[in-house]
Formats: sequence, structure tokens, C-alpha cells
Amino acid sequence: MSRFRELLRAYELGAQPRRWLFVPYDQLTDAVGPLSREPAGELGVLLVECPEKAARRPYHQQKLALLLTSMRHFALEQARRGVAVRHVVASSYAAALAEHPGTLEAMRPAERELRSELAPLVDSGKLRLLPHEGWLTTAEDFQSAQIGPPWRMDAFYRYVRRRLGILMDGDRPLGGRFSFDAENRQPWGGDPPAPTPPTFEVDDVTLEVCALVRERFGHHPGTLTPDRLPATLADVDRLWAWARSECLPSFGPFEDAMSTRSRGLFHTQVSALLNLQRLSARRLLEDVTTDPRIPLASQEGFVRQVLGWREYMRHVHEATDGFRRLAGATSPTARAPGDGGYARWAGKPWPGSQSGDGGSLTSHLGAARPLPPAYWGARSGLNCLDTVVAAVWQDAYSHHITRLMVLANLAMLLNVSPRELTDWFWVAYVDAYDWVVEPNVHGMGSFGVGDLLTTKPYVAGAAYIDRMSDYCEGCRFDPKTTCPVTPLYWAYLHRHRDALASVPRLKLPLAAEAKRSAAQRERDARTYEAVSAGLTEGEEHLPAQKGLF
Ligand SMILES: Cc1cc2nc3c(=O)[nH]c(=O)nc-3n(C[C@H](O)[C@H](O)[C@H](O)COP(=O)(O)OP(=O)(O)OC[C@H]3O[C@@H](n4cnc5c(N)ncnc54)[C@H](O)[C@@H]3O)c2cc1C
Ligand code: SF4
Repeated sequence: MSRFRELLRAYELGAQPRRWLFVPYDQLTDAVGPLSREPAGELGVLLVECPEKAARRPYHQQKLALLLTSMRHFALEQARRGVAVRHVVASSYAAALAEHPGTLEAMRPAERELRSELAPLVDSGKLRLLPHEGWLTTAEDFQSAQIGPPWRMDAFYRYVRRRLGILMDGDRPLGGRFSFDAENRQPWGGDPPAPTPPTFEVDDVTLEVCALVRERFGHHPGTLTPDRLPATLADVDRLWAWARSECLPSFGPFEDAMSTRSRGLFHTQVSALLNLQRLSARRLLEDVTTDPRIPLASQEGFVRQVLGWREYMRHVHEATDGFRRLAGATSPTARAPGDGGYARWAGKPWPGSQSGDGGSLTSHLGAARPLPPAYWGARSGLNCLDTVVAAVWQDAYSHHITRLMVLANLAMLLNVSPRELTDWFWVAYVDAYDWVVEPNVHGMGSFGVGDLLTTKPYVAGAAYIDRMSDYCEGCRFDPKTTCPVTPLYWAYLHRHRDALASVPRLKLPLAAEAKRSAAQRERDARTYEAVSAGLTEGEEHLPAQKGLF
């Protein structure tokens, strides 16, 4: 018998009638819902490990390990306080729930994919869904904040700051402004020193999970690092205490900075725990807004991420059914025909993939190129891309600006299919679940749904990357002369000039592009063709000679 089962068995309880709850993998909390209110002795929880789900996509090994060990630790925590626990391994969630005697209740899962798997059980009355109390805002907030679509995060953010009274002095925002973003855009030169993320003791449960992941999912990509898994509640508290004392005091000013010397800089690295509900958004906001060590600009910057962006993205996903309600959602042109499965690995269908709708294929600007092998770990010679990709396959994490301004930016400049990019982020990142990864990548990161949720595509040339990072210092290209990223940027603006003409925030860049000479345009287009073809084939094929571009 496994050590986990042995530990769980020690808490086996009598067979008195209980109210049984199904707890999905992304609701590992007793801070909300019936578990927070009802006596433990009257409750039972059903937890389901589903290896088929883990095998469905080439998920990073670290992601699988965090999810499994968090779930097992949650099971033990609940058993310890007197809740009856059934922890089962099953081929599907639906099968596990169907086998459970009697009816079950569950807070509404955040993930659409799980909701659709459970829908028949809800229809039959076997499973009753309760509101998910972990969210800070409601669908009514999303609707009341603005008239849309298109939607804007800012309007939503101001509305919910006011409604919830967070960082407010009556009806006025603290400090006189809702956003301190303008001050929060500094590059980082090494001062203050970047904090080192904590490591955690690896207990028997985590050890066993890591062995399972290696044995069963060892062919999945990514490095498994057991001592970087915050598995117990004490680990979770330690990570959050570190984030508060070491990261958040400098969070605001360096929010947009990137560096080879620190992968996370002053970002908190709590997203995976938030999305599993091991940490609650309510607790985060309460702690941050009352911590005198954190200046107002950093408090505001963090509140905007958690209360603003995170909640907003979830509402957009719900309101569009993951963009399935948009034109082109099932367009066969955004992907090769016959490619409708769930997952791909390095350009090929993934063996564990199942048939299904595979998500929305909307591609606002018609981008449909495959994702270059560089994203799967083949070196490209572009130091910005290679540095961030290596970090992702090492840690299953990189911070927001590396996601947006390196990985998504380059994919956009190369006209990569938004769906392919989204699927890549979904498997590579420890915090990726459909409700959050799809709006962030398909929406914000690739402009795949146009201006539905953001004002512009976040594209930039080498000057931005050079200003905000030290990546260019170690690159074989020179950001001012030989780097292909800037011509790619001009080529992008030129290719999509008509479609982007109505985007107010691109008026200046489009005007600058219009002034480029025919010879410059011709060089931009040549660079685009050479780099996209070269990267599609792999590093050796990317022209490296100085001056080629
Ligand atoms: C292309 C792209 C893909 C992304 N994919 C994901 C994803 O799969 N899962 C995910 O949780 N976030 C995603 N994000 C949002 C954001 O980048 C991450 O939440 C953040 O980088 C996580 O690191 P952190 O905890 O150190 O964040 P911090 O910078 O410390 O921010 C604090 C918290 O704010 C929340 N947050 C900030 N921005 C967003 C956002 N746009 N959407 C949702 N939550 C946000 C997160 O919970 C985060 O933990 C993505 C962003 C982009 C541009
Ligand atoms: S020079 Fe260009 S390719 Fe190299 S790191 Fe800078 S932006 Fe990236």
C-alpha cells in the first residue's frame, strides 16, 4: 500500500450519514463553501485522480506533480479534521462520480473542460452544483461595469475597486489614482537584489507523487524539481510570507522588467496556488492592502493583477464560452485539416490526445503558422526567446512580461496560430487552466480575438526588449543593427496595416511604418520570410551572420 493510502487510512471514520461533496482539483480549500461552515463530522469529500486527464496533453511534469501532491495533502488535511475522505483513482471524473453511492454536491468548477465532463451528471441530478465562493466578483459585476463587448479591464477594475471598497477612501481611490502603472515600468539593473524563491522539504507524500510522475508521465516535457513544490499548507504559507516580505515591496516599479539574473524578479509566483485555491484571492488582497512594508504603488499594482486581470479574464472566458461563440471558432483554416484533437507535441498530435472540439480556432488576423520548435526547446539563437523557453521547461513558470513581450510577442510577429500558442502555454505552465490560459494567450497574447478584451496587440521590436531586459547583452544579434525582431515588428505592422488601422493605440507606430522606404519594407518582408522559415526548421537554419537582416 502506498504511504499516502497508509496515512489516509489512519483517519478512517465510522459510516454515519454525511453530506458528500465532490472537490475538483482546482478547489483545494476549506476556506469557502460547505467545508468552511458545516461541522467536519457531517461532511465527506470525494477526490478523484484521473491519469487519463493528465495524459491528455503533454503537461509539464512539475505541473502534474504540484496538482497531485496538493490534492493528496488536501485529502490528509481534511481527514485530520474529521471530514470523511474518499480519494479514488479513476479513468474519468464522470465514472468516479457515477460510482459514488447517493448524490453529490460541488462548487462550480472553474475549468470549462471539467464542467463539460460533469454536465451529464448535473443533468441527471447525481451532482448538484453550488456557486463557487472563491471568486471575488460576479457575472453581474462584469456586466454592470461597462457596456460590451468589446470589454476593457480598466472599467471593470475601477467598478469592482469601488464596489468592494479596496484601496478606497470613500469614493476616491487611495493616492488619488486608480492606477500607478505609469511609474511601474522600470528596468532592473540589480538593485535591490532580486529575492531567491524558497525551497520546501520533500515529505513522503510528495516523494511518492514524484515517483509516480516519473514512472507514468516521465515522457512528458519539463524538469521535475521536488523541492520547489509547495505541497503542505505550511509550505504555502512560507511562499506567501516570502512573497510579501521579499517581492511585493519592490513589485510595482519592476513589474515589467526582465532579466537573465533572476527568472521571477519581484513577482510572487503564487498563481498556481491561487488557481488550485490553496491560497485564496481574498486572503492575498487583505494581507497586501494592510502590509505597511508594501508601498501604495506596489499594493495597487498587485491588486490590479488579482482583483482586476485575474477576475476579468475569467469573466471573458465565461461570457464567450472560451471564445467558442465568436466567428471563426470552428474555422478549418486556422489549423491544418484533420487536426482537431486536443493536444500537440512539437507540431505533432500527442498520443494521449482525445478527440474533442480542441477549443476555439478564431484567428482575427488570419495567423496560422505552426509554432516553431524553439518553443519546445530547440535553440533559436534569439537569446530572449531561448532564455525564457529554457526557464519555462525548467520551472513551468515565467513571469507576466516574459510571457507577453517575449513568447507571445515573437509568436505574433511570426504569425503563429493563436490556438497553437494557447495549447503550448496550457501544457508548459504550472498555472494554466482553460479559463485563464485561453483569454490570456488567445485573447491578450496573440490578438486572436481582435480588440474584444484588449486595446491592441502587444507587439514590440528589439528596442523594447533591450530597454526592459539584459537579454540582448548575451545575444549574437545586436538590437540596434542586426537583430531580426525589429524588422519582424515592421513587417507585422505592414502585413496587418488595414486590419489594425482602427486601433487608436497603434496610430503612431503605423504612421512610422508608413514612412519606411520601399527598400526597408522589402528588407522587412525578406526578414520575416527568412526567420519564420528558419525557425520552423530549427536553430541551424536561422541565418546568423551579422548584417543579414
Ligand atoms: C501569454 C500569457 C499567458 C498567461 N497564462 C496564464 C495562465 O495560464 N495562468 C495564470 O494564472 N496566469 C496566466 N497569465 C497571467 C500572468 O502572466 C500570470 O498570472 C503571472 O505571471 C503569474 O505569476 P506570478 O504569480 O508571479 O504573478 P504576479 O506578477 O506576482 O501577479 C500576482 C497574481 O495576479 C494574477 N494575475 C496577474 N495577471 C493576470 C492575468 N492576466 N490573468 C490572470 N491572473 C493574473 C495571478 O494570479 C498572479 O499570481 C498569462 C499571461 C500572459 C500574457
Ligand atoms: S538582440 Fe534581438 S534576438 Fe537578441 S535578445 Fe535582443 S531582442 Fe532578442
